[in-house]
Amino acid sequence: MFAGHFAASVVAKAAAPRLPFWACVAAAQALDYLWAGLILAGVEKLRVDPALIGSPLDLFHMPWSHSLAMALLWSALLGWLAVRRWGGAGWWIGAVAFSHWLADLIVHRPDLPLWPGGEARLGLGLWTLPELAVTLEIGLLGLAMAWWTARRARARLSVRPALGWFVALLVLAAINELPGDPPTPAGMALLSLFAFTLLVGLAALVDRADARRS
Ligand SMILES: [Zn+2]
Repeated sequence: MFAGHFAASVVAKAAAPRLPFWACVAAAQALDYLWAGLILAGVEKLRVDPALIGSPLDLFHMPWSHSLAMALLWSALLGWLAVRRWGGAGWWIGAVAFSHWLADLIVHRPDLPLWPGGEARLGLGLWTLPELAVTLEIGLLGLAMAWWTARRARARLSVRPALGWFVALLVLAAINELPGDPPTPAGMALLSLFAFTLLVGLAALVDRADARRS
């Protein structure tokens, strides 16, 4: 799942409009930011196996970024930092960060450990039904965007910056689905970092446009 995670960012921004959108977007991929960094550092590991259905990623070792215990810890930490910065609405940031793990739980094959070093692994494996996975992802995003744009219209904010960000997300998601040889693990990590950072940067532009309006 790539695009679907951002449905949570959009919901948080619609529910708590005073939160900066860039922070909502970054929170949705906070665990994968960490994952990409740890892949590059050689601490966490993956194999690329084109024979796997749905996603070629065999994410066999990611205890620090994607175990349930660590996901809860990182999300609580981000929520706490956000509350210090933006007040009570900051808990949305923690919730968005943890929603990443819940969404991964639905789509991943069983590769999510309960805690670092734990043997049991969770994952409901929706990836193996790609059409259903994509429908769910796009459906959630669409609903979230509809709610956010309606709230923006009511607050007399232009919907254009939000739609611009959404189009960029769809383009990146489409590029992600292009057929071709999957990149190496380090290539995967670098591409992920690039795409996430681009979306956070574009979200900051939405914040700037909104600040100018209000
Ligand atoms: Zn993830």
